[in-house]
Amino acid sequence: MGKTSTLGPGAVIGILGGGQLGRMLAMAAARLGYKCHIYSPPGDNPAFDLAAFNSAASWDDIEALRKFASSVDVITLEFENIPVATVAGLAEICPVYPSAEVLELTQDRIKEKNLAVKLGIKVPDFAAIDSVDDLERHIEQIGTPSVLKTRRLGYDGKGQCVIREGDDLAKAFDMIGRQPAILEAFVPFEKEISVIAARGRNGDFVAYDIPENRHENHILKTSHIPANISDKTRKQALEIAEKLAVAMDYVGVFAVELFVSGKNGDETLAMNEIAPRVHNSGHWTSAACTISQFEQHIRAISGLPSGSTQRHSDAVMQNLLGNEVNALAGLAGQDGLFIEIYGKQEARAGRKMGHVTKITAKTVGN
Ligand code: AMP
Repeated sequence: MGKTSTLGPGAVIGILGGGQLGRMLAMAAARLGYKCHIYSPPGDNPAFDLAAFNSAASWDDIEALRKFASSVDVITLEFENIPVATVAGLAEICPVYPSAEVLELTQDRIKEKNLAVKLGIKVPDFAAIDSVDDLERHIEQIGTPSVLKTRRLGYDGKGQCVIREGDDLAKAFDMIGRQPAILEAFVPFEKEISVIAARGRNGDFVAYDIPENRHENHILKTSHIPANISDKTRKQALEIAEKLAVAMDYVGVFAVELFVSGKNGDETLAMNEIAPRVHNSGHWTSAACTISQFEQHIRAISGLPSGSTQRHSDAVMQNLLGNEVNALAGLAGQDGLFIEIYGKQEARAGRKMGHVTKITAKTVGN
């Protein structure tokens, strides 16, 4: 498939990862007349319920991967921690968006931050940490409080710990499993926001309005749209996302998570991280925009024109964690609530089981 060819109805989209993001991508693909083939290691794969074809096999099952790549027209992913070698191997058979190079970058917090620095995007002060010695050396320069995170494979606050004045550094390094890590200055932010943006195969860039994201126990709890930030900050955030997209030659939807410090016209932004996929803080787009982030992603990787990102309403998205999902009947009884339940088998504490989006005001023409 060349850079300019587009997928027609009936084409098959391969999705790596069988979680809720894959499930919602498959639904959006179906509406455009595409079929999906989901590839994911065996386990609870709620996306399997929604796809025409499924493969349950590991990330290093070369034969299964080859068969999968030969059966689809384009490949994408809903989970960024897939081995880079797996994606590079698939790309020899079928185009993969986002690319193995993008994954390599976004899987490594140091590489990601180095790219931001190169592009003039502010990030918290940071240092690479490979030992307790490194930690002792760099804590001086970065100061406390600071955050120690594994360099790779972290999500929802897993593999990180806050270091305060006087803390035992060896214990902190133990806590994150004595793995290659990054030490970051703690940002005393006012707000966390994210840009959900898409870049097409032709380089066309679009972005949604910016949500403010509130976390509980490091897990996203709610996204409020629009974020209460100045126009200047909004513009800067969108510029950051576009710069990153161009630098990565990105194709598809991605999110940039940003910290906002200061307030009332005196705001500054610092980048936290890039998620190379559709993002939890963009789920509200299914309820408050004509074209959701999921359809936008399918359009981008299929070579279709990007859709409008216009928002017709203000909204609040709330995740349903653990057994909150059991309140379905009560939620369904609430007026105007957009409900999405992921169909996961087990409602473990803190597990993302679904979300609801409440439309809070009509803003047609915004
Ligand atoms: P992450 O896994 O890097 O997205 O971090 C998860 C959450 O931890 C973020 O959404 C923040 O709420 C918090 N956090 C991460 N890094 C920092 C930092 N350098 N300063 C303050 N809070 C942070």
